[in-house]
Amino acid sequence: MTKVLEETAKECIRWAVGSFDNLKMSTGLNVSGLVLVDLAAKAGYQGELLFVDTGYHFPETIKVFSELDLRYPEISFIKLSAEIKTEELYLSDPEKCCQINKVDPLDEYLKRTGTDALLNARTRASSPSRRDLQMVEAGQICRINPLTLWSLEDLDRYLAENDIPPHPLYELGFTSMGCWPCTKATKPGDDPRSGRFVGQGRLECGIWSKSS
Ligand code: SF4
Repeated sequence: MTKVLEETAKECIRWAVGSFDNLKMSTGLNVSGLVLVDLAAKAGYQGELLFVDTGYHFPETIKVFSELDLRYPEISFIKLSAEIKTEELYLSDPEKCCQINKVDPLDEYLKRTGTDALLNARTRASSPSRRDLQMVEAGQICRINPLTLWSLEDLDRYLAENDIPPHPLYELGFTSMGCWPCTKATKPGDDPRSGRFVGQGRLECGIWSKSS
């Protein structure tokens, strides 16, 4: 099964590379992100990987970003961040904190660079909020999701078969990696993203909820 998923994902990436003038890729460096970067490199993607550094990431996540930069020289690793830092806004207004520190820096960069399509690593299996995810989401910026149908087990198997180290906190139960104030470890069988935004009444940061 993984081979079929793998070939489908690579075919999707090749289609995107050949179809859009200004394609980019974005990931939060979760297990699916690590798989996507590897598949994209093998499928011939030689563009940018965008990572939004909120200033609140675990140090391990920043280290993963640096290691990927060395592992995939054909891809340009770009770190984006908010121009103005806000002090502990995640305590008083987490949605505004995400807007300022995650959504706005990515939106601003995509608009400034005239990006017309964005590869990303979302999967249906990661969260109830993603159960209806389609492989291609048309819009002003087309969202392309080559890993739509992958389960957590598929992702794990791919990393193992391709000798790709997982995020160092993954084995401790961090099945979806976000900022340290808003990310908890999950238990076996939980939705992978159930450790995100715990107690905040939401499942998404807002990056993927926009229609444009
Ligand atoms: S996940 Fe938490 S710390 Fe990170 S930007 Fe959103 S509210 Fe702020």
